[in-house]
Amino acid sequence: MKKLIVGNWKMNLSIRQSLVLADRLEINIEKPTADIVVCPNFISLHAVSHELKESKIKVGAQNINNNDDGAFTGEISGPMLKGLAKYCIVGHSERRVNFGEDDEQISLKVSAAIRNGLTPVLCVGENLNQRHEGLAKRTVLDQLAEDLSELTIKEVSKVVIAYEPVWAIGTGESAEPYDVEQMINCIHKFLINKYQSEIARKIRILYGGSVNSDNALSYLNAEFCGGLLVGGASLNYRQFSKICQL
Ligand code: PEP
Repeated sequence: MKKLIVGNWKMNLSIRQSLVLADRLEINIEKPTADIVVCPNFISLHAVSHELKESKIKVGAQNINNNDDGAFTGEISGPMLKGLAKYCIVGHSERRVNFGEDDEQISLKVSAAIRNGLTPVLCVGENLNQRHEGLAKRTVLDQLAEDLSELTIKEVSKVVIAYEPVWAIGTGESAEPYDVEQMINCIHKFLINKYQSEIARKIRILYGGSVNSDNALSYLNAEFCGGLLVGGASLNYRQFSKICQL
């Protein structure tokens, strides 16, 4: 299966700046070695999606409400994203930490994405205390078990999982490729045990956390690594284009 590179632009860039970045990526990524997705902010989503309509670069959202409509001021639902996005980041640690999203809510969001034809990019990962206490694997597997609990086996095969150790996100402190490989292996085994190897084989497991064009390959080479979720470096078109053509 082709690797998947997802760029999370987070709460950055105006509509105009988002379009400039989308254009630069479109021009500079001539020979992608992977499937590529960029996730602009909601305000820029429509413009970027229109701009990349015919492109090899696909578009994703950064969040989704678990309801399809209703009195949820300020929220964006799955039906609103239809036609604009093909992917949707769910359970990013910045949402877990800053907006109090818990696994129960995240499981409903994953389900909402699937129900609305979006591929969820489900983020899981331990914080520094959990790692120091030897609880990294337990934490990640517990998150996964609950976050996927609303899905049928067939639906689970449509999910992309991003392993993102919280302490490595936006800090410049990337995880050791060996540790990433161990965790990805552990997630892969969990999927085999819980859902069958045929399903596990279809699920791409990405790494995310201070990835840049210099360290990207060391993660892509890890066994069972299905690609990367890139934050800060995805705002730099030279870096992101390079990562997509390794
Ligand atoms: C992210 O936003 O998911 C992320 C991994 O950010 P960064 O690459 O900046 O650490």
